[in-house]
This record gives sequence, structure tokens and C-alpha cells, in this order.
Amino acid sequence: MSELNPFVIAQRQLDECARILNLDDSVREILRVPMRELHVSIPVRMDNGKIRVFQGFRVQYNDARGPTKGGIRFHPDETIDTVRALAAWMTWKASVVDIPLGGGKGGVICNPKEMSQGELERLSRAYIQAISQIVGPEKDVPAPDVYTTPQIMAWMMDEFSKIHQKNQFGLITGKPLELGGSAGRGDATARGGCYTIREAAKHVGLDLKGATVAIQGFGNAGNFAASLVCSLFGCKVIAVSDSKGGIVNEAGLVGEAVLKHKANTGSVVGFPGSKPISNEELLELDVDILIPAALENVITDANAGNIKAKIMCELANGPTTPEADDILYKNGVHVIPDFLANAGGVTVSYFEMVQNFYMYYWDEELVHQRLDKKMTSAYHATLQASNKYGINMRKAAYVVAVGRVVEAMRLRGRL
Ligand code: GLU
Repeated sequence: MSELNPFVIAQRQLDECARILNLDDSVREILRVPMRELHVSIPVRMDNGKIRVFQGFRVQYNDARGPTKGGIRFHPDETIDTVRALAAWMTWKASVVDIPLGGGKGGVICNPKEMSQGELERLSRAYIQAISQIVGPEKDVPAPDVYTTPQIMAWMMDEFSKIHQKNQFGLITGKPLELGGSAGRGDATARGGCYTIREAAKHVGLDLKGATVAIQGFGNAGNFAASLVCSLFGCKVIAVSDSKGGIVNEAGLVGEAVLKHKANTGSVVGFPGSKPISNEELLELDVDILIPAALENVITDANAGNIKAKIMCELANGPTTPEADDILYKNGVHVIPDFLANAGGVTVSYFEMVQNFYMYYWDEELVHQRLDKKMTSAYHATLQASNKYGINMRKAAYVVAVGRVVEAMRLRGRL
């Protein structure tokens, strides 16, 4: 049976990498745990006049290569171990694309779908207040993640600016364009993933024109991926899903129309001309490209053997367990692992930080070009390590990323 605690998985992945790189045990000990974590209780006045206390976390995993960086999740199933794992993956993510940042992550246990805008705003402001001592443009820079939005980033930036009595655009990334956001940040995670798909397709010899695609998840990453694989490469998206279920149409689904349907009804389910399909069935469809873009642990030893895609591009964080990884590798599925595939988000976040620091903003074309360069070289560095060591792409991405973090720690004199 697959282990499903994401932090245990993250530690196992690191142990395996330490073995391949022959790392000293003391180095491994440092890298296995976060350098700092803050647990906060956040009282928020709800619309009914009563106060509710929410639990929140901010984990700073490793800052050897620069200020820690990573999103904030608002999710009812959030746990400290999930946040720890995600903070570790952020460390490897920033390193694999070679941007000068460390890794961190935040989370609040809440269900934004059941909260009013006013309640969400009060929670967002109270959370950033509660963690304000350990975050900041040169310390730790949050961003959007599951169920958090540019509007939430704007509230947090505003609250932090009030505390410091000056504008602090650099506190947080993924902000609206009007408030120091970067062009191209909205679809950056999906676009970065698409650049890796383009390189992977050359590697496995897949013609992307007309290639079939299934996408699990229709949030910050999945919905942009659905339109980008069509507009950039002429792929055919035949199935998409969200937390309520999925839809399939062999003739192809039009991204914009599905998005409109979801905006009107709250789900992709019931889209005219499509057949219903479960989230689990979607993963096993006979497609060329599979994009898990929802939550953790959806591909385990129970279903990995049924995956038929040639390329699997993980836009979600942690969708695949280590047991499943071994099965996929044996079956020849080319996996573009999460912290490489979805690094486009943090890469453009880094561009946003740079623009905030020098108060001069780039146009979208420049963002795309620079993103493409980062993603393409990260993909090839990983592929090269995979060939050199005869290991799967996830282990290879670890080898590249952890190697750089260890070198930074050594140069700082921490080892
Ligand atoms: N939440 C995104 C991720 O997991 C983006 C993080 C960021 O931009 O800092 O990569």
C-alpha cells in the first residue's frame, strides 16, 4: 500500500536522492526537516457576529539559496505535514529552475467555498498579521496556491503595508496587475508546464498536433493548461474535471466554453455534448498526455499500472506516490515531475519580485521568453541527470535541485 502522508513521502524522496548523491548523513539530517515553522491561531469575526478561530501555518524549509518562497493554501483538509512537504518541494522547485530563492509554504484550515467575501478578507488580513514577523520581501515571500487568489494577495499586501506604514508590494506575488503584479503570472504555472511538455514530446517522439490530453483539476493550473495546450500546440483536450467530477468528449472540448459553463454552474460537470466521467476514470483514459492538476496522492500503486499516457505532466504538487513512480517508470510513462513541471508559477513570481524591487514592469512577451528559457534548461538538466544516473525524472530533478542547495550550504559555511 502506498504511504499517503506527503511529508513522509517528501522525506523518502530526499533519502533516495541522498543515496544517489552519496550525501553525508549530517547533510541529509539538515535537509529532511524545515528550518522554521510557525503555528498560529487566528480569531476571525464571522458574518453572524460570532468569532471563529482558524488554525494557520507558515513553514520556511531552507533559505540557503535566497529568501524562502511559496504559496498559501486555504483548504479544509490542510495539515502541518502537507505544508511541510510543500515547503520542501518549493525548495527543490526554486533550485531546479535556478532562481535565487529558498522554499516555504503556508496554509490555513478553512473552507473558502463556505465563506463570504467579507469573512475571507478578514481571515486573509488576520493570517498575514499573525505571521508578519517572519515574512517580508527579503525574508519570505508568499503567493497564491490552492483556493487563494490575486484578490487575497492584494488584501495581504495591503495589511502588511499598513503594519509597516509604507507600500510593500514585494511582500507577496501573484498580485493583481494594478497592484504590482507581473504580466504573465496568471497562466505561468500552466505555460511553464507546456514548455516542458514541448521538450518532452521531442524526447519521446510525440507529434503534439492533434495529440490527445486529459486534465484532472480546473483551478489555477488546470484551466489555463486546457487552453494553452490547444493554442500553443494544437492538442485536443478530450477530458477535464474538477472536485465535483469530470467530463469527456472524444471530439475535443473547447476550453473557453467549459470555463464559461463552470463560471455559470460551479462545475465542469454537465457541459453540453460531454459524457460524465469520474476523477479516477479520467486518469486511466487512453490519451497521449495526462495532466494531474488537482491535489496530492491521486496516482498510487493501486492505479499507476492502468495509466496509458505517454507523457504525464504533473501540474499539481505531489500527485504521485513513490510506489506509483516505480510502476510508471517501468511502464515507460515519461513523467515530468511536479516541482519541475509546475515551476513556471514560482519562476514568474520571481520575475514579479524583481519588477517590484526596481519598480519597472516588463511586457508579457518578455516574461514568456524568459520563462521559456528557464523551463527549457531545467527540463534538459533533469533529462541529462536521468540519463547519466539511469534514474526516473523525479529522482533526476532531485539530484539537480538538491545538489545546488547543498553547494549553497557548503559555500555559506553551514556544512
Ligand atoms: N503556489 C505555487 C507553487 O506551488 C507558486 C509559488 C510561488 O509563486 O511562490 O509553485
